[in-house]
Amino acid sequence: MESALTARDRVGVQDFVLLENFTSEAAFIENLRKRFKENLIYTYIGSVLVSVNPYKELEIYTKPHMERYRGVSFYEVSPHLYAIADNSYRSLRTERKDQCILISGESGAGKTEATKKILQYYAVTCPVSDRVETIKDRLLQSNPILEAFGNAKTLRNDNSSRFGKYMDVQFDYKGAPVGGHILNYLLEKSRVVHQNHGERNFHIFYQLLEGGEDDLLRRLGLDKNAQNYQYLIKGQCAKVSSINDKNDWKVVRKGLSVISFNDDDVESLLSIIASVLHLGNVQFATDEQGNAQVTTENQIKYIARLLGVDVSVLREALIHKKIIAKGEELNSPLNLEQAAYARDALAKAVYGRTFSWLVNKINRSLIYKEGEHPGWGSASVIGLLDIYGFEVFQHNSFEQFCINYCNEKLQQLFIELTLKSEQEEYEAEGIAWEPVQYFNNKIICDLVEEKHKGIISVLDEECLRPGGATDLTFLEKLEETVKNHPHFITHKLGDQKTRKCVGRDEFRLLHYAGEVNYNVTGFLDKNNDLLFRNLKEAMCNTENPIINQCFDRTELTDKKRPETAVTQFKNSLSQLMEILVSKDPSYIRCMKPNDAKQAGRFDEVLIRHQVKYLGLMENLRVRRAGFAYRRKYEIFLQRYKSLCPETWPNWDGRAADGVGMLVKCLNYKPEEFKMGRTKIFIRFPKTLFATEDALEE
Ligand code: ATP
Ligand code: MG
Repeated sequence: MESALTARDRVGVQDFVLLENFTSEAAFIENLRKRFKENLIYTYIGSVLVSVNPYKELEIYTKPHMERYRGVSFYEVSPHLYAIADNSYRSLRTERKDQCILISGESGAGKTEATKKILQYYAVTCPVSDRVETIKDRLLQSNPILEAFGNAKTLRNDNSSRFGKYMDVQFDYKGAPVGGHILNYLLEKSRVVHQNHGERNFHIFYQLLEGGEDDLLRRLGLDKNAQNYQYLIKGQCAKVSSINDKNDWKVVRKGLSVISFNDDDVESLLSIIASVLHLGNVQFATDEQGNAQVTTENQIKYIARLLGVDVSVLREALIHKKIIAKGEELNSPLNLEQAAYARDALAKAVYGRTFSWLVNKINRSLIYKEGEHPGWGSASVIGLLDIYGFEVFQHNSFEQFCINYCNEKLQQLFIELTLKSEQEEYEAEGIAWEPVQYFNNKIICDLVEEKHKGIISVLDEECLRPGGATDLTFLEKLEETVKNHPHFITHKLGDQKTRKCVGRDEFRLLHYAGEVNYNVTGFLDKNNDLLFRNLKEAMCNTENPIINQCFDRTELTDKKRPETAVTQFKNSLSQLMEILVSKDPSYIRCMKPNDAKQAGRFDEVLIRHQVKYLGLMENLRVRRAGFAYRRKYEIFLQRYKSLCPETWPNWDGRAADGVGMLVKCLNYKPEEFKMGRTKIFIRFPKTLFATEDALEE
């Protein structure tokens, strides 16, 4: 039999806190690599689960695997998603405290797969009743639907989520799932009208063309060939070998019926999807005055019919801009560029709002009504957060700025909660707390979000300023407002060296995870997210019931400006933070092993970046600051009692006394361990390894 020592050599340690050299990044990565080679894709840092995407199907998600993790103590089994899922579930049941599982990592790291596997775990292992069967189905079915409308093929991931998602699963007093609720964040709407080379639009468009019945397509005025639609060919890759659009279409159609879409709902929804495709094919030409005129009358007719609006109103709205000055309405014609802009803005608005409507519709089908189940009591909740990780590209824009800001907030929450729970455990166990040095990224969050002084405030101010505001004046204002901040650099503000690295149209933020240059081009436009008034009016007079719910007349009469995109995002983030702090958190940190989506390849450079962006070394340092290992006396005694004649075969007294006897037998030195109220704390891994090795012998 392989000894514990050589097994450790081969497969590494299953908890990074047991690394001898815990401050060494090289040792950390080596441990990951060893385990990855052995298909051991999960490793802990204390209670945090680190996961490396295997890019192949592993036989570790079967029903017997689920059973193995059900109701067992966290550390008695090898690290797994199911251990995290089960641990949260049991805390929910025994402590009656709401839980949340935060899943992070960069694109393609496996966040969405992890979320789905956790949901499946609950679906299989939780108790059932009639009502529960429907809800369980709906919870599971909400995924393919949201993925169809919110996911797309990107260069990094063939099924990349282009929105952030937080999902509450509600459990009744018996522990059965009885309801749910989804919050969505920042859908990447720009994808509707443009895709980079090698990327696609949202899946649903291709699914509809590939899978839609001839009848349906005829009604929608569509043909099967994606090449005929401007909005689908920007990335030149309508077909993807790993994706079966035709099959996925069937899954989506089934999903829609499970979440109680009737035929009319489906027709209205698909009409909108089709109208977006037609919009992409709308073209303009200039008349003698240089004003835009629609040249594709057929498209306009289809769009008007599908969206339930008047043809001439729509046509005019696309080529005019209504300005209200001194109480008078002025219809000024648009030029070619402006008309194309208006068209794209309409496509994005229609799609974006329909997506939010869809989330609401799913939520209505997941509502848990206490009244319907007298005596069930209020439900307790496990929240699952699947949200974009830190992003750094060659070119970073408004979207990356929002995403990375979100990650700063989550990091702050993580640091606060991890330190707090460490401190609380020490206190509860009556062990003196030893302060830990760590980087507090509050300074960066403030830089972004502080009132009047933060980047968001400056951006919003520029967006509101009438006349003359541009992306570059925004940058200048930033330089005036945030100068001398240690985490903010521009071409003007930097020293000799950094000047060269920051372009004249960029600002650089030193994030906790690393530095990122943001190009300001498009910031104002994206933040304003304007839809010209004429188009809004046209949409408000719709006969399509979904569009009708998406566009509210009060938007037209409301004197207040609608909130900017970044402010909406900031508010929804702060709401999210409130939700999360009210719950007990667990963390899953996902990584991808290579950029080629290949099994078996472990690219160290890529992994090192992710270890940095996820803050894993810092996480380990905080977790290891005091003691590497801690266990309940009963569990420790049970495992090692054979190593001491006094505790073998059975110890009659208190478990704590038994462990006291055991460590005396094992010759633990006083500096090596501490005895808490219910647990033994061991400072160094080598102490534990020596004990483990003794057990093997
Ligand atoms: P994004 O931020 O782009 O949405 P993501 O982190 O959600 O990325 P996923 O879509 O979950 O990434 O995973 C990408 C792909 O990696 C999956 O489609 C699947 O092929 C593979 N994958 C992820 N996790 C696993 C796993 N546990 N086992 C096998 N394959 C996996
Ligand atoms: Mg995803």
